[in-house]
Amino acid sequence: MIDLSSDAKILHYITTDDPAEAEALYATARELREEHYHRDVYFRGLIEFTNYCKNDCYYCGIRRSNTKAERYRLSMEQILYCCQMGDMLGYRSFVLQGGEDPYFNDDRVVEMVAAIREKYPEHAITLSIGERRRESYERFFRAGANRYLLRHETANDEHYRKLHPASMSLAERKDCLFTLRDIGYQVGAGFMVGTPYQTPECLLEDLRFLQELNPHMVGIGPFIPQADTPLGDSPGGSLEQTLRMLALIRLLLPKVLLPATTALGTINSQGREMGLMAGANVVMPNLSPKAVRKLYALYDNKICTGDEAAECRMCMEGRIRNFGFLPDMGRGDSRVEVAAII
Ligand code: SAH
Repeated sequence: MIDLSSDAKILHYITTDDPAEAEALYATARELREEHYHRDVYFRGLIEFTNYCKNDCYYCGIRRSNTKAERYRLSMEQILYCCQMGDMLGYRSFVLQGGEDPYFNDDRVVEMVAAIREKYPEHAITLSIGERRRESYERFFRAGANRYLLRHETANDEHYRKLHPASMSLAERKDCLFTLRDIGYQVGAGFMVGTPYQTPECLLEDLRFLQELNPHMVGIGPFIPQADTPLGDSPGGSLEQTLRMLALIRLLLPKVLLPATTALGTINSQGREMGLMAGANVVMPNLSPKAVRKLYALYDNKICTGDEAAECRMCMEGRIRNFGFLPDMGRGDSRVEVAAII
């Protein structure tokens, strides 16, 4: 019923504003997700361990040039405390995310990963700390990291250059993703919906790139302006287009792990639930200490910044159950078969 057999047909669904058509898209994506993952929703505990960043992405609130950003960095003890708290709350999957903070050089990242791995031999450890050299990624992998999230942000070169300073390149970012996959990580790519200068054709390129990479995970969310950035006056991405993109990703990469992100929950109070209804199957409640939550301000008005880890865990479970989904606190490994495509 949903025909995605050509660029033109996919573009049609990227842009349609017919609610009946969108609903059919969500329903088909939902069925496909149920076929592979039933009604399960995987929980990942997100630890935002530093907001220092050497990069200067024009959309991001923790960019180097944002002198208004109040910087923080968690100590090793604080990071381990977050993991301990997460483990007590039932999490078996930790995501360590941060800006590209030079303090966390390779040795320190290895130390962090190894310390978590030693305490939690069975848990999944995901890193999301940006672009590094192959040798660094290899060291982190050997220390016990299993997964890596690195959104490509946009698969169109010209668009990429409008969102990033000249020192950054899409080719390098894509290279990192293929390297990570080659090393053996479960890899997550992704992009923002509704960034300035994004066209429907850019979004089509994002989908085609995802098909080429065949990642285990795809993280997408609406662009939300952050007032102290160069793109702070631009309009944000829409709920509807983000939901359509989630559904299209589910349809084109049926087994992918697809989070309903915090950004989606920020632009609509039921955004994450709607994301699950459009094919998403992962949520990433926050495990960062309450004191620093507000400071990891990639964008304005971020939700859940006043809650303790336990509150986020319970709140999310309630939301999920309300919509007929089942929280799954396991590692939630991907069912994408990568060996076949390398
Ligand atoms: N430094 C890491 C983590 C980046 S933050 C890295 O390079 O991968 C995680 C994600 O937040 C980014 O990949 C980006 O897609 C998203 N993000 C940043 N600023 C945003 C904004 N203003 N609105 C919505 N999402 C944003």
